[in-house]
Amino acid sequence: MTAPIVAIDGPAGAGKSTVARQLARKLGFSMIDTGAIYRSVALVARRADVAWDDDEGLRKLLDTGLGLSFQEDRVLLKGHDVTEAIRTPEISRGASVVSARPVVREKLLGLQRELGLHAPRGAVLEGRDIGTVVFPDAQVKFFLTASDEARARRRHDELAEKGLPVPLEEVLTDQRRRDKDDTERAIAPLKPAPDAILVDTTGLDLEAVVDRCYREAQTRLRHLISGQS
Ligand code: C5P
Repeated sequence: MTAPIVAIDGPAGAGKSTVARQLARKLGFSMIDTGAIYRSVALVARRADVAWDDDEGLRKLLDTGLGLSFQEDRVLLKGHDVTEAIRTPEISRGASVVSARPVVREKLLGLQRELGLHAPRGAVLEGRDIGTVVFPDAQVKFFLTASDEARARRRHDELAEKGLPVPLEEVLTDQRRRDKDDTERAIAPLKPAPDAILVDTTGLDLEAVVDRCYREAQTRLRHLISGQS
C-alpha cells in the first residue's frame, strides 16, 4: 500500500507552511512544500536568463533537471542552499508566472507525485492544487484561508524575521496580484477540492489550527497509521 497523503491547499499567507510542517512532525510524515519547487523553477530561469513565459526555454531547463533537493527545512539547488533566495518578492512573482505555464505544471506533476509516494511513512504536501490535481485521492484534504490583511501581515512578519523586510503595503499588493493570477489561471487554478475541510485561520493562533488539523487527520487516517503518535 502507498503512503498516506495529506493535502493542504490555500492562498499565500493562510498559514499553510507552518501548519504543514507541524502537522507532518506530529504525524511522523514528510513535509513537501510544492511552492518551493515552483519558486526554484523561477530562480533557475532567472539565473539562466530564460524568461518566465518562455515555454521552450523552460522546457529545456526542466528537461536538464533542476537538481532540486530538500534537507530538513532547507531547499538546495545542485547542492547550494537557496532557501532565502527563492523567497524574495521578485521570485514570488516569477513563481506565479511560471506556474501558469502548462509545460511547467506538466513537468512538475510527476515530480510532486513521486516525492509524495516515496515518503517513507506518509506525506503532507502543501500548495495550490494538491487536493484537486496532484493527489485528488488524498486521504485528508485541508483548504486554509484567511482575510487578505491577516495573510499579508503574516507574510510581512515572516519576511522580516528572515531579514527580508518588505513594506506591508507592498506585500498586500503583490499578494492580491498573485491570488488573482492563481485563481484565474486556466490550468490547475487555486480552489478548494469538493471534499476539502475548509479552515479560516483569520485571528487564530496557528497552534490551534495545527491541533484541529491533527485531530481531523488522526480520525481519517486512524486505520492507516494506528500505533503512531
Ligand atoms: O506557496 P508559495 O507562495 O511558496 O508558492 C509560490 C507560487 O507557486 C504561488 O503563488 C503559485 O503561483 C505557485 N504554486 C502553484 N501550485 C502549487 C504551489 C505553488 O501554482 N501547488
